[in-house]
Amino acid sequence: MNATHDIAARSLAAVWHPCTQMQHHETVPLVPVSHGRGAWLFDADGKRYLDAISSWWVNLFGHANPRINAALKDQLDLLEHAMLAGFTHEPVIRLSEQLGALTGGVLGHCFYASDGASAVEIALKMSFHYWRNSGQGEKREFVCLQGSYHGETIGALAVTDVALFRDAYGPLVQRAHVVASPDARQAQPGETAADVARRAAQDLERLLQERSGNIAAIIVEPLVQCAAGMAMHDPVYLQEVRRLCDTYGVHLIADEIAVGCGRTGSFFACEQAGIWPDFVCLSKGISGGYLPLSLVMTRDAIYQAFYDTDVRRGFLHSHSYTGNPLACRAALATLAIFEDDKVLERNRERAAQLTAALTPLREHRRVKHFRRQGMIWAFDADIPDDAAASFPRRIFTQALQRELLVRPIGRTVYLMPPYILDPEDSALLGARLLDVFNDVVEA
Ligand SMILES: *Cc1c(COP(=O)(O)O)cnc(C)c1O
Repeated sequence: MNATHDIAARSLAAVWHPCTQMQHHETVPLVPVSHGRGAWLFDADGKRYLDAISSWWVNLFGHANPRINAALKDQLDLLEHAMLAGFTHEPVIRLSEQLGALTGGVLGHCFYASDGASAVEIALKMSFHYWRNSGQGEKREFVCLQGSYHGETIGALAVTDVALFRDAYGPLVQRAHVVASPDARQAQPGETAADVARRAAQDLERLLQERSGNIAAIIVEPLVQCAAGMAMHDPVYLQEVRRLCDTYGVHLIADEIAVGCGRTGSFFACEQAGIWPDFVCLSKGISGGYLPLSLVMTRDAIYQAFYDTDVRRGFLHSHSYTGNPLACRAALATLAIFEDDKVLERNRERAAQLTAALTPLREHRRVKHFRRQGMIWAFDADIPDDAAASFPRRIFTQALQRELLVRPIGRTVYLMPPYILDPEDSALLGARLLDVFNDVVEA
């Protein structure tokens, strides 16, 4: 018996783990983390794991980051929390100002919550309520994309097109319209990613022609549908959707919970299409992976539709920890690192290093659709159907043996590392992932 084993057993007895068939832990190990340092997590026995997926896509600048730690320690002695109704504080004001400035003032109003699903529900409610305040209460339907993922609360599931969740909880959910995904992997011979994107936009246009009078908003994950298996698309899709939303009077909600904060190469993914949506949802990386924080940014025209003497025309939504000062300070420290370290620029070098280290995988005979967008890498395993079900668990387990934290989605293996990998980390990650993949697919 070792320390890790005892802690895992206690956890399995008392903790119900997220999105997990708990019985699988009879064969799949549970890893008790004792501490983290940079890109590495350490378990109770001193074994280490390179966090190649940023702990579910949240960690941007490593674990126990000295600058974020210092900001939090400072904030702890000032104010841990105060309610945001009737009160305000410097961290939430500064964060709203700085984020608004990153959109050139276009999305100058920030509304706060604690998790991504809540941010999605806030954007949906705000859109609906905007239309009702504008005398168009019949606009109450939503549109999402095939394979979309926007969170797992009952409201967010309405715009989430994941069969597993839909089948389990479908009867509870008011379903949105589902339109074609612009996933570039659907390209027919001779077709470009932009062709696929235009074809998907035509599918949306058909729906809007018919029903735009009842539709409040479309929600998209710009550039990468992450939970769908890192499905990437051409930015022209976002331009087309923006144009259609303007033509048909429908809001565009950009769920940048996973793709925001520099993940795709620009701070907001939408910047690469040269458009601004009507709402942006942020969470995950915004606090550097430290504390639960989410927010919705929107335009002045939307904000003004709620501005009134009548409380019922105000936006009726709140959470106990709205605008938590500690989380906002972590976010401010995160934004400061982006600026001070020229992170977006330096990520281009980091991306080139890791891409080079992944060359043998890109050329592997069992690899299809090797792809990258910014600091996201993905490829699909070309394996028989009967091997697919156990593939993610086998990769995860083999990766742990080789000091890597990697969790495939179906047949898709992806990397979403923190923005701090040095050339040695990248070389190690590329070499070990190749070994892991060979262990599993050549077995
Ligand atoms: C993770 C995620 C969410 C949900 O965020 P939670 O904090 O897990 O509720 C929503 N949308 C996207 C695109 C995500 O990746």
